[in-house]
Amino acid sequence: MGIDEVTDVDELPGTPTRKGVRKAVFLDRDGTLIDVVRDEEIGAITVAFHPDQIRFLPGVIDGLRLLRDAGYALGIATNQPAPAKGQFSAAAVERTNAALVAKLEAEGIVIEKLAVCMHHTKRSEGGDDALIVDCDCRKPKPGMIHQLLAAMNVEAASAWMVGDSSGDVEAGKAAGVRTALVFNRARCELCPLRGGPECGPTLQGDTFLQVAKSIRAAW
Ligand SMILES: [Mg+2]
Ligand SMILES: [Zn+2]
Repeated sequence: MGIDEVTDVDELPGTPTRKGVRKAVFLDRDGTLIDVVRDEEIGAITVAFHPDQIRFLPGVIDGLRLLRDAGYALGIATNQPAPAKGQFSAAAVERTNAALVAKLEAEGIVIEKLAVCMHHTKRSEGGDDALIVDCDCRKPKPGMIHQLLAAMNVEAASAWMVGDSSGDVEAGKAAGVRTALVFNRARCELCPLRGGPECGPTLQGDTFLQVAKSIRAAW
């Protein structure tokens, strides 16, 4: 799945509909593909940090199949600052991401490339100091989208960034790709905090499936 394996573009999923043009959709992970994790006992909300915690949000599998069938190659761009903050390990993030990719593959959905930013700017107790850096990859910066465009051999004009927060949309805009916001203020307790349509996405929808249909129609 790494860049080294991207040798023959013609053999990859995301077969171009026009010769020489590959199109792609880049996906945020938490709140877009999978749900956050609610610990009822301690009343805390975290992102998934173990394979058993992976729960696809409604419409995600159908939406990804629709994009796949419409010829889009798929990549993931995810901020995972927990190791920098000392909340859980980089190994836990990697194990969870690998399980996510495997679960999608079992559904017939290939994630061609995964970009992860584990950095954060603020030092925390128990965090990994090596990850405390003002990087170019943490969304809303566009670094991960640039990585995906290069690794997947896609032009910005042929790509979309799909996410549930203004940071996803801002990162996409900064990279020159089109942007889609999955936004339903009533969906979860975090939604009102995330920033919504005022970030000016190219399009938006209540569910991932709705957004996927709109992307297909917009091409
Ligand atoms: Mg998100
Ligand atoms: Zn980073």
